[in-house]
Amino acid sequence: MSRFFSEKFKSLDPYVPGEQPRDMKYVKLNTNESPYPPSPEVLACMSPENVKKLRLYPDPESAALKDAIGKAEGLGRENVYVANGSDDILNFAFMAFSKPGGKVYFPDLTYGFYPVFAALHGLEAVEIPVKDDFSINIEDYFVADGMVVIANPNAPTGRILQLDDIRKILDNNRDNVVLIDEAYVDFGAESAVCLTGEYDNLLVCRTYSKSRSMAGARLGYALGDKSLIADLETLKFSTNPYNINSLTQLAGIAAMESEEYYRDRCRAIQATREKTAAELIKRGFTVVPSMANFIFVKSDRISGEDLYSGLRERGVLVRHFDKERIKDYNRVTIGTDEEMDIFLCCVDEMLKGASK
Ligand SMILES: *Cc1c(COP(=O)(O)O)cnc(C)c1O
Repeated sequence: MSRFFSEKFKSLDPYVPGEQPRDMKYVKLNTNESPYPPSPEVLACMSPENVKKLRLYPDPESAALKDAIGKAEGLGRENVYVANGSDDILNFAFMAFSKPGGKVYFPDLTYGFYPVFAALHGLEAVEIPVKDDFSINIEDYFVADGMVVIANPNAPTGRILQLDDIRKILDNNRDNVVLIDEAYVDFGAESAVCLTGEYDNLLVCRTYSKSRSMAGARLGYALGDKSLIADLETLKFSTNPYNINSLTQLAGIAAMESEEYYRDRCRAIQATREKTAAELIKRGFTVVPSMANFIFVKSDRISGEDLYSGLRERGVLVRHFDKERIKDYNRVTIGTDEEMDIFLCCVDEMLKGASK
């Protein structure tokens, strides 16, 4: 830390992304990327013609991209905000929709970036314990005196909230923004986007990183009432108007126009998820019911940490969290069938040697 670093940020504890090792080729099941490539239409965007256009600044309004997203979601351009990954949107939402020094409510087991954004913006993080089965008690979020943030499906658990429950949370928070983070919604949960016309306090956040196979492109979007979107635009034009590069804008449009391709890939991932879960249950694992592209699992024969490190030695990366409450678990991203076979083979090898 330099002697110049602002007092304000000295105690920040930054987010730690899942490892992206370059030392060998791993079966990578640790950061919820898609095992499938982007659609052929997206690949076609990366033409020399379009690369030449990098000479110019991108459209700061991302108008064509917003229109493509709006069309796919049945909303207007004014209801769509686009950003450099949905992390960027979460950052702005925490900044925009909380009182200075106010509170932000979210589950104790959820996306690790929420507490970081709360700290960054000087907000008090109110972490509400999820139940023992990792589901959320919605009444805990009624009449919060600050923003409410819920990932649906939740990460790292994969648990979902029903639309009726989201509606109740919205009804009981008329004066707070409720942010529903739908990073994994395409793998089986019901989206809250249909409620955005009815609730001016609802912001839905989405990403191209998981179901649309574009984690490297960095593209996310938010949907909501046009006044909420306008606030996010104000912050964007006060920080980084050219927040999405021109190639990513084109890729984002092409991906929105490849609905069928992505629907098929999501279905494949869901089928692989169910198959993998069943295989693990056969081997005595506890598998939390998941509607995401990962499963949250524990074995009573191998500790969470040993499973993580044993798999790593065998070239398979999964995500282990140090948090006491979930230290027995690992989060395993769903890859291709072949990748999950390798994963299961390694698990079998370890179970054979396990004495616990
Ligand atoms: C992956 C993830 C994000 C971040 O997505 P990016 O668009 O890649 O920044 C946001 N929320 C949750 C819950 C995630 O798992």
